Amino acid sequence: MSANVTDTRISSPFPWRGGFFPPILDDPIPGHLEKISDLGIPHLFDIHTHFFPETIMKLIWRWFDNANWAIGYRLPELERVKRLHHNGIKQFTTLNYAHKKNMAKSLNDWTYNNYQNWQGAIPFGTFYPEEGVYSYVKEAVEVYGFLGFKLHCEVSKLNLNDPELSDCFGYLEKKEIPIVIHTGTAPLPGEFTGIQFFKPFIQTYPKIHVIVAHMGAHEISAYASLLDDYQNLALDTTMVFVDFLATGKETDVDAAIPLLERYKDQIYFGSDFPNIPYNLNHPISKIWDLPISDKAKQKILFENGKNRFFK
Ligand SMILES: [Zn+2]
Repeated sequence: MSANVTDTRISSPFPWRGGFFPPILDDPIPGHLEKISDLGIPHLFDIHTHFFPETIMKLIWRWFDNANWAIGYRLPELERVKRLHHNGIKQFTTLNYAHKKNMAKSLNDWTYNNYQNWQGAIPFGTFYPEEGVYSYVKEAVEVYGFLGFKLHCEVSKLNLNDPELSDCFGYLEKKEIPIVIHTGTAPLPGEFTGIQFFKPFIQTYPKIHVIVAHMGAHEISAYASLLDDYQNLALDTTMVFVDFLATGKETDVDAAIPLLERYKDQIYFGSDFPNIPYNLNHPISKIWDLPISDKAKQKILFENGKNRFFK
């Protein structure tokens, strides 16, 4: 990419480890696909990839532009799907979320009408505290066949303890349908982000299948401390073990590495593609290089996802 893109990244509000910028958009590095088969897994599973209608995606990119969060993958949707496959990611989710009322149901309709064009996509819906929410969540599961949901507490200003959502959470808990939730304070805190909102929520729905995005950064250890007590709780590695330090200081990120080994059954690989200021190969190769067992890598990069969605 042009020097301008790199210049933008220099002025990012978040530091880069060692001041080094990985390539922003490229093909997988040689040997990448061989590494996947050497690990004994057929491909990679990404629990955290985003799909939005193009007009909304462009508005989101404009927001990132204003934060000097360079996005390399400004490609048409099907081109983006190809990049996932080129990097060995052959199963991935379709995460999106509502910024306001009267938006979630139409996002679900859009996902339902389009996801079959994206080879390997696992359809995820979203919801929002509003009238009719329980009925469109049920529809998304029982009519659309969605396999999970995504919520974004910061962008949606969503309180997990909002009584308007209790029917939905009770239903999804009973159905064992996973929800990827951005509840942490990274990269930016919100009115309803942080462990103080998450703890009462998980205590209310102790069997709910939740995957905490970004490992709960900036409070990784607080979220991880719940993993022993809540067997259906999991974390995703999205934007954690990368050179772009939006999810925490180097020391915090390094302190999280042993969690991958200890909780290898409760951690999923996530990328945040395409909204990342580096190439897709970067987060994958960072996981390859971590000092954890091959077994942990197999589970995090593939098996946990496969077992969760394709029993
Ligand atoms: Zn995300």
